[in-house]
Amino acid sequence: MEEEREIMEVPPRYPNFEQTAIKEFWDALENEKLITTRCESCGKIEFPPKIICTSCYSDDMEWVDLPLQGKLYSFAEMFAVPSGFNPPITVAVVELENGVRLFGHVINASYDELKVGDDIEITFEEMNWFDYKKHKYFVFKKK
Ligand SMILES: [Zn+2]
Repeated sequence: MEEEREIMEVPPRYPNFEQTAIKEFWDALENEKLITTRCESCGKIEFPPKIICTSCYSDDMEWVDLPLQGKLYSFAEMFAVPSGFNPPITVAVVELENGVRLFGHVINASYDELKVGDDIEITFEEMNWFDYKKHKYFVFKKK
């Protein structure tokens, strides 16, 4: 006789967009804006956004817009990918005009079509990483 098993519902995993201390960041992405934090004490701009400055430990932070243009700093072809992606995908580090570096997914060019220094535009796509909620996130497009 087959054993009867209780099916458990798996609770949503982090991030909980409503409760995180960087809710403004997730809300901005939904509106196709990319923002991060700038320390009002020492001026350091960091990404991802921080609630405490990693340079001077001040918690006096303000939100600032990030530019949506940058240059390809480094990239790699990825064969073991998170669920929801079809391998291989190209991931990259892009350096923005203000020196901030972002890690993300290049959506319009394969590994062989890229070179360091390429002009990159940051755009937004609906993601479905978290089964319980779709959410927009930034992606990279080669210009
Ligand atoms: Zn600081």
